[in-house]
Amino acid sequence: MALVICQNGCHGVYLETTEQFDPDKTPHGGMFRLVEPYKGNGWSSFPEHEGVTGAALECPDCGAPYLNSSNRVALVPGSEEAPKKLGPLTPSTPAPNAVVSPEIIARIMELKAAGKKPKEIGEAVGLHYMKVGAIIKAAS
Ligand SMILES: [Zn+2]
Repeated sequence: MALVICQNGCHGVYLETTEQFDPDKTPHGGMFRLVEPYKGNGWSSFPEHEGVTGAALECPDCGAPYLNSSNRVALVPGSEEAPKKLGPLTPSTPAPNAVVSPEIIARIMELKAAGKKPKEIGEAVGLHYMKVGAIIKAAS
């Protein structure tokens, strides 16, 4: 497994490669999956199957396409041997039970239902996207 960089957008690391990944083949959804803590925080990504290719392979945070003009993804150098959890590379996950008003939670769930990404929701309600993910997870 290797970690994948959002090379055309935010340069965040949200995905890892699966056993289906082959650097010599055109990438598809089945070759990637979300890593923790994003997956556990309720982030959604493109469907993880081979019917998803090209521009549909987009960053779950900023929406930029993962593929470059040669139809290739960018991997974090040396990450092939990295542990599955990102550990110190990621901020600690905020506790879902911290106090947030019911109105804010309702707004978050409304935006989530409308298909907004955690980062967009966070910007709309003034919370960090990690917090938004934790609230969505706790409320669903
Ligand atoms: Zn991105």
